[in-house]
Amino acid sequence: MSSLKKNDQVEITIDDIGSDGEGIGKYEGYTLFVKDTVMGDTALVQVMKTGKTYGYARLVKLIRPSSFRVDPVCPIAAKCGGCQLQHVDYQKQLEYKENKVRNCLTRIGGFTEFEMEPIIGMEEPYYYRNKSQFPVGRNKDGSVAIGFYAGRTHSIIDTQHCYIGAKVNTDIISCLRTFIEKYHIEPYDEKSHKGLLRHILTRVGYSTGEVMVCLVINGTKFPHTEELIYELKKIPGMKSICLNVNKEKTNVILGQTILPLWGEPYITDRIGDIQYRISPLSFYQVNPVQTKKLYDIALDYADLHGEETVWDLYCGIGTISLFLAQKAKYVYGVEIIPEAIEDAKKNAAINAISNAEFMVGAAEDVLPRKYTEENIHADVIVVDPPRKGCEQSLLDTILSMSPRRIVYVSCDPATLARDLKYLCEKDYRLVKVRAVDQFSHSTHVETVVLMSK
Ligand code: SAH
Repeated sequence: MSSLKKNDQVEITIDDIGSDGEGIGKYEGYTLFVKDTVMGDTALVQVMKTGKTYGYARLVKLIRPSSFRVDPVCPIAAKCGGCQLQHVDYQKQLEYKENKVRNCLTRIGGFTEFEMEPIIGMEEPYYYRNKSQFPVGRNKDGSVAIGFYAGRTHSIIDTQHCYIGAKVNTDIISCLRTFIEKYHIEPYDEKSHKGLLRHILTRVGYSTGEVMVCLVINGTKFPHTEELIYELKKIPGMKSICLNVNKEKTNVILGQTILPLWGEPYITDRIGDIQYRISPLSFYQVNPVQTKKLYDIALDYADLHGEETVWDLYCGIGTISLFLAQKAKYVYGVEIIPEAIEDAKKNAAINAISNAEFMVGAAEDVLPRKYTEENIHADVIVVDPPRKGCEQSLLDTILSMSPRRIVYVSCDPATLARDLKYLCEKDYRLVKVRAVDQFSHSTHVETVVLMSK
């Protein structure tokens, strides 16, 4: 407990970044979260709320601004919920992310000695996202708003140009804005559950230039589709125009039904030599430039020579599996979402990859079952779980299977550290760790880890 009370003003130095990009500093050992501050700032802050172990304060005055402050390139960066760190120097962002991984491994994992390879940043940390979802609504003056939600709310910040999305989005949004106004298309209103157009989803194949536009609608029909197609087709690379039906009262953006309007209901992209078919509902890594680097590291860590049996758990649409299949004898992919496994099988087929097999189910069910019933074997196991990490029962099966190497790809360093600790208390050794910046200007970080027996 701290001696601080609400409205107290104190001077602190900011030395860390919180998960929403806010600054974190300490006053007499007591942690304060302060919006609008940056690592390295010395600031006068006013306490707003105190809890047992930490509190919240607001910035009153910057006494010495941090040398890591930069002017964001995007004029709406501070309001928009899309980027949390644009006002922080990019090299500092990378350092912060690398430290976050290192700290989790030391504090949660208890690891003291391990090789941490330097974080892999982007050469050009802008225009990297291959998927964007723009909510559609109305501005206060009644005009059509197309943009992004403000941080932690559902008010839409009208946007003409997003600096982390594909460049072609600017043309798509401008074309659709004109169309919506010309034909009086009613934007969806969350409160009344009325109106038609909810979201605009765009996907771009970075290595093929193929473009998809999918309009998410609260209905099953869209007016003036011929004009819509005519206008959108003018955009270079346009390959797929479709509708997605979502009539639910929900925050989930996409519904399950796709109504193709023009072109194929998918686009194709490539990572390295492998082609992937992407439909509006497919999970696909959002930063293709960094994904290639991430998968190259995973492949390098797996150290395959053509004789190995590899399991890729949490395989999604088979992206890593097919990458590994190029160098392994046989790859088994396991994934919980049936549609993703359908995509994985198709992706194997279009690449003429016959040494990969995909199974639907929870990794923690499928792997133990296959192990006890069929006594399956693994030389290398790759896992890429969601934020909550792996179930302990899965880690137990991995330990019993005793692969030569384990490659862990993670989007959450805290659960990563927890799982590594469990594996390394038994038979494994943490060999190498490398972070990759998949989400520049956000606080997220991706990590690849190699463990060996
Ligand atoms: N490796 C893929 C996807 C990683 S995202 C890629 O690089 O593209 C994590 C994946 O785990 C998601 O596709 C999610 O659907 C899947 N998943 C979540 N829980 C799971 C579980 N218990 N067993 C298997 N897959 C699971």
